[in-house]
This record gives sequence, structure tokens and C-alpha cells, in this order.
Amino acid sequence: MPWRISPADRRAGVRPDPYRIWMSEVMLQQTTVAAVKDYFTRFTQRWPRVSDLAAAKDADVMGEWAGLGYYARARNLLKCARVVANEHGGVFPNTHAALLELPGIGPYTAAAVSSIAYDLPETVLDGNVERVMARLYDVHTPLPAAKPELMVLAEALTPRKRAGDYAQAVMDLGATICTPKNPACGICPWRTPCEGRLAGTHLELPKKTPKKPKPVRQGIAYVAQRVDGAYLLETRPDSGLLGGMLGWPGSEWAETPPTDAIPIRAQWKQIEGEARHTFTHFHLRLTVKTALVPMDRTPDVGHFVDLNEFRPSDLPTVMRKAFDLATGGRKMTEPTLLRSKTR
Ligand code: SF4
Repeated sequence: MPWRISPADRRAGVRPDPYRIWMSEVMLQQTTVAAVKDYFTRFTQRWPRVSDLAAAKDADVMGEWAGLGYYARARNLLKCARVVANEHGGVFPNTHAALLELPGIGPYTAAAVSSIAYDLPETVLDGNVERVMARLYDVHTPLPAAKPELMVLAEALTPRKRAGDYAQAVMDLGATICTPKNPACGICPWRTPCEGRLAGTHLELPKKTPKKPKPVRQGIAYVAQRVDGAYLLETRPDSGLLGGMLGWPGSEWAETPPTDAIPIRAQWKQIEGEARHTFTHFHLRLTVKTALVPMDRTPDVGHFVDLNEFRPSDLPTVMRKAFDLATGGRKMTEPTLLRSKTR
């Protein structure tokens, strides 16, 4: 993993960079290592130090984050970088309590940064560690109610020395050996004391409270292209879902059929099919409408972005799905977005 220090480098005295550890941990919240690696590499190449990130334009950071999801993380990433650059001299605080004061840093991230970057004996409890603790101590209380109990057990195991190595090791044990479906107990260093394995219950653990089914919301996205090729986009408000991201103007997203919220006067055509996307708390079905508009038309919502400045990769995934539906997946290099299959 590009944010890790190799054992040989650690022996040679190389310390992990708190900036890189913090960024990796923020990116990894709710996201897999495979999805994060390229984003992490791009971010750290473009902004190698926290002061570089602090000086970045909001739109550039949101554009680089597009596709990684949970966009509040990107806004907090920027806020946090600016606080560290402006109020802490560009150096991340080295205590758990001071890290917790920073924007977007909760108990887990504070523990990860203070243990991995500063070797402080703080306890990390991510989903992987929860699974390992539940199995190791045969805990049958379902998650999320089991979290405090699992934290107490995890804290008792956290060593005072080499806390950073331990934190990474226990997370890796969960990610690679004590996996959800086929744990490799035969090569696990904790196979002898593991109470779940001894009781034969480990495969059922951790228990989880069943989730409620997600509701389905509906909405309309309006993809308008001016005759010179420019697209009509809006920057969404900072607060709320996809806050601060670029997107297509649209209706409210609700569990009832959507009502039109046309952003510019034009001949709108509804595209066959719908763009579907799943958020944490609901499924979304977006109807997509497209229009070509003349040069002199002024939008009621949003602003036109020139074709040579428009990068679909700057859009969050749901908006990219709407764009793909509008264009039939064709690369848009000329002002012809209307698909033949309109309703
Ligand atoms: S022995 Fe098996 S169940 Fe227990 S911690 Fe190791 S991998 Fe997980």
C-alpha cells in the first residue's frame, strides 16, 4: 500500500508521514484499499505536503475526489488541511485529543494517525478489527451494539510499544487472514487462544442487527448542451448530499414521483431508461432529460461549462451515470448529445 513504510525502512528509522497516514485513513473510510490506491497516489503527487493541499482550489480537490463517494470527506479533508497549515504550522498534532479537534477527524482516524504516525498506544477499531475481536473472544452481541464491548477488548490487547506496527498488523490480520467468509485459521497467529474457533462459532461472528431495506427515491436530471458544445452544470450547495460537487441541475429526490424543475427553457426530451445509484440510506432512480439550447438562452439554474473544460471524471458517480445515459456512452467532442432512443 502506497502509504505504508516497509519493515526494512522502519528498522532504518524512517517514520510514517502523518499527512499521508491521515489522507489514506480519510479515503479508506467506507471504501476499499483497491478503490483508494489510485486516488491516494494522484492526491499525493499533486499535493505532496499538507500546505500544498491547503492552498489548492476547492473545485480542484472536489474534482480529484469525484468517483470516490462520501463527498463530505473531501470537504473536510480540505478544511482540515487548512487548519493544520494555518494553525499548526503545517504539522499534524501528535496527541489523540488534539487530532480529534481537527475537522473531519473522529475517534477512529485520530487513533489511526496517533498510533501509526506517532506510535502512541491508541486503539484502532475498524470493521476488520471488530471481526477479529468478536471471534477471538467469542462475542455474540450483535453489531453495532457490540462496539463498546469490542473496544474494551481491543484496548486490552494494544501494546505500549510499537503501537503503530500493532495497529497495522491487527487491521491486516482482519483484512487478509480473519476474512468474513473463509478465515485462514491454520496460519493465524491467534489460532490457539481464539475462543470463537475453539467453540466452532467463528464463521457466524460478528453477529449483526439486520438492516432495514433501503427506500427508493426518484428524481430528474437535466443534461443541457448549448449549440457551441458547452454543458449546463451546477455546483451543489456545500451542505447535503454530494455537497460542493459539480452535477446536472435537477428535481428533488423523493419517494414520490418527481415534479419537473426545468433549469432552462428548451425542448426537453426524456431518455429511455434511468440512471440508478445506491447511496448509504437509499436507492436512487434518475430520469434523464436532454436538450440542445441556443447561444442566447440564459439558465435559471447553473452555469455553462465550455466543452474543452468539461471533464466527466469531475462528476460524482451518479452524475456520470446520468451523463452516460444522456450520451449513450459516446465521448462528447461535438454538440450532439441527443440520442435516438428518446421517449
Ligand atoms: S483463529 Fe481464525 S477466527 Fe480466530 S482470529 Fe484467527 S483467523 Fe480469526
